[in-house]
Amino acid sequence: MPGKYPLALTGVSHGQTLTFESRFSIAKARYKTVTISVPKKFTEPSPDELQDIARSKEIKTKAFHHVEPQRLWDGPFRAPAPARISDVFGVHRVTNGVVQSIHQGLDYAVPAGTVVTALNRGTVLLAQPLYYEGNFIVIDHGQGLMTLYLHLSEFKVKEGDSVEAGQVIALSGGTGQATGPHLHLAVRWQGVYLNPATLLGLRMP
Ligand SMILES: [Zn+2]
Repeated sequence: MPGKYPLALTGVSHGQTLTFESRFSIAKARYKTVTISVPKKFTEPSPDELQDIARSKEIKTKAFHHVEPQRLWDGPFRAPAPARISDVFGVHRVTNGVVQSIHQGLDYAVPAGTVVTALNRGTVLLAQPLYYEGNFIVIDHGQGLMTLYLHLSEFKVKEGDSVEAGQVIALSGGTGQATGPHLHLAVRWQGVYLNPATLLGLRMP
């Protein structure tokens, strides 16, 4: 909710209790809306597709419930591809007159076969093809922070692998429900989608 909120932090350093108090404001964000028209077969899945959608959802839900109590990430977060951003976070997509989705990530304009790298250190939680996401990688950075890479053409890591910041994890593509080759990057923290641009813009001490 927009408004002013108090923030109080308490910690112990060398036997001394330290406190920090501040106030911060949360403002309403404004996002743009795009309107597109597509043939019905793209908005009304067949029974086979519905089964695949359900299977994909189950796999994702299970992965997102995973809890890694350790912080695995370290230092700054790095962009996953050296490319311009073609679509920003929060855009409302109106398909055939209905708000179909809100863009919960950043799109990088990359041709298929472009090297995709990990934003930071973590563990590969998921590396498999899903209905909407296509070839899909989820990296768990610990303490509820995950980064998601969609529509990939090729996996360069497998589930359970440890990865470093900047390590090659995949090649980009246009798999799943993508209108063309691009890299969709998403960030989840404690179960909500954050704007990846905020994470990439953080300056670490
Ligand atoms: Zn996208």
